[in-house]
Amino acid sequence: MKETVILDRKFREMIPGEIIGKKIDEMAEKLNHDYAGKDVVFLGILNGAFLFAAELFKRINLKARISFVKLASYEGTKSSGSVKELIGWNEDISGMHVVVLEDIVDTGHTLELIIGELKVRKVADIRIATLLFKPKAYTKTIPLDYIGFEIPNDFVVGFGLDYDGYGRNLPSVYTLVK
Ligand code: 5GP
Repeated sequence: MKETVILDRKFREMIPGEIIGKKIDEMAEKLNHDYAGKDVVFLGILNGAFLFAAELFKRINLKARISFVKLASYEGTKSSGSVKELIGWNEDISGMHVVVLEDIVDTGHTLELIIGELKVRKVADIRIATLLFKPKAYTKTIPLDYIGFEIPNDFVVGFGLDYDGYGRNLPSVYTLVK
């Protein structure tokens, strides 16, 4: 069992890089099939999805573009605390078929926010592709169209996901050893 230490925590390998690669092969094949003949924009959610987005996108053989947005927190004017907004929109995606690329869907709050923003931009349709999904943590009803791996409700790092900024470069997904 491979283990690694990041800062003050120990993590154990949960999904080896080769298995992730095969899963992304399968997902890309489905997308190439489902979007054949269509003009697609992939929308990666930074920071975590950068690696998954790159690995997936190089396997896509459609007429496709890719763009990235980032969720930023700022202090709202109300006492409710921090508010999140998406930054980095720099192209017109109205009328496009959009595939949102997420590293992980946990509660689904992030996803809900993104979907809300996309609807305002009047895209043709929206589908979601996520490398990891925690079904037990999910509180929304938005369907996830392409799921790499369903995982338990534990903290994971690697393949783009971080622990306090570190661990994104790990080629496998690791889970926290409690
Ligand atoms: P959600 O909005 O679905 O609750 O989660 C959104 C964000 O929380 C993800 O995009 C990710 O940045 C972070 N997140 C959720 N679960 C994990 C996890 O197990 N590990 C890491 N590194 N980030 C997570």
